Amino acid sequence: MKKKIAVLGGDGIGPEVVGAACQILEKANFSLDIEWLPNGEAALETHGTVLPEETKKQCEESDAVFFGSANPPSDPIIMYLRWGLGNYVNIRPTKYYTGAASPLKSPEGIDLVILRENSEGMYTYAEGDLALVQDALPEFRTRHGKSLGDYGKGNFALRIMSETGMKRFSKYACEFAQDRKNKGFPGNITVVTKSNMFPQTCGMLEKAVQEELVDYPELTYTRFYVDDMARRLVRFPDRFDVIATSNLFGDILTDEADEIAGGLGMAGSACVGGKVPYFESVHGTAPDIAGKNIANPTGAILSAKYMLDYLGMEQEADSLEKALKTVYKEGKDLTVDQGGKAGTTQFAEAVLRHIK
Ligand code: ATP
Repeated sequence: MKKKIAVLGGDGIGPEVVGAACQILEKANFSLDIEWLPNGEAALETHGTVLPEETKKQCEESDAVFFGSANPPSDPIIMYLRWGLGNYVNIRPTKYYTGAASPLKSPEGIDLVILRENSEGMYTYAEGDLALVQDALPEFRTRHGKSLGDYGKGNFALRIMSETGMKRFSKYACEFAQDRKNKGFPGNITVVTKSNMFPQTCGMLEKAVQEELVDYPELTYTRFYVDDMARRLVRFPDRFDVIATSNLFGDILTDEADEIAGGLGMAGSACVGGKVPYFESVHGTAPDIAGKNIANPTGAILSAKYMLDYLGMEQEADSLEKALKTVYKEGKDLTVDQGGKAGTTQFAEAVLRHIK
């Protein structure tokens, strides 16, 4: 039976890059049933909402959701895909393809994966007037002895790491690293935190991974603070295998990692762990280049590759990646961000031509 894919193009360059990737999947005759659903700012005009109920229903009846990107009014889509469907792990691989415009002198060999906890940390959207917590916690003292009232007027944001959240994320990270080890990767997990400043929250993630690792004797463990990691990613990117980190740190480090492999247009991702997984480029809506057919669709094409892998279509995933690799190696059909002249569709056509 054909796997059913719900496509939500979103806003900005989202529909263009997802469209280019879908064109490849369809013309290559991969066994998929691809359905575009109303969503985003376009649906606001036609359906009065960025996420119609019917779209949600279709997503939940699909094997995977293929998503573009969202402008702020379309935030409910992200809330739904991430929290509504419960996808608590964001898998963001960074791999250098020869020919891509990396700013590094020697980018060959970069092949790492950042696992970003996708539902907690700084992204709990728990923000508010400081007076709320001042009133609720009059006895509370910070580590340097201040009361919350000492700050006067202001706002707060809560960083929440739950035991359940850290445990399930750590379990996923260890399984993922073991899986990669079985495929010939080093089997190293690097946990990135700032536990010197946040022993209770970051410390909890470190502890959860270490406890989980007891069941994975073949894996090795390293821990770096996020500031140190930012530096190491630029200096020694080829030394990393699987990096596990919390939500905000993961968001920032993955943009950095993508840049060293050639740029934001190059990165795809998978969000898994919930009812239905979704696959999306790491970049946003890029309003400056939207509607011009110049966006690089590589992030969306790689997201499609991860989707095929997830659906058990490894052969198709492999041939898609090989075709992409060839286009970069040949360098004739690269997009503007990679120093080429090709448009979004021309790049996608080149990838399609190389699929065997
Ligand atoms: P968000 O916060 O929604 O993730 P952002 O503000 O970080 O978005 P993006 O919309 O991702 O930013 O784009 C940042 C810049 O990177 C854009 O202005 C654009 O020049 C470039 N960019 C992003 N995606 C692509 C792409 N697919 N192809 C070419 N350039 C891109």
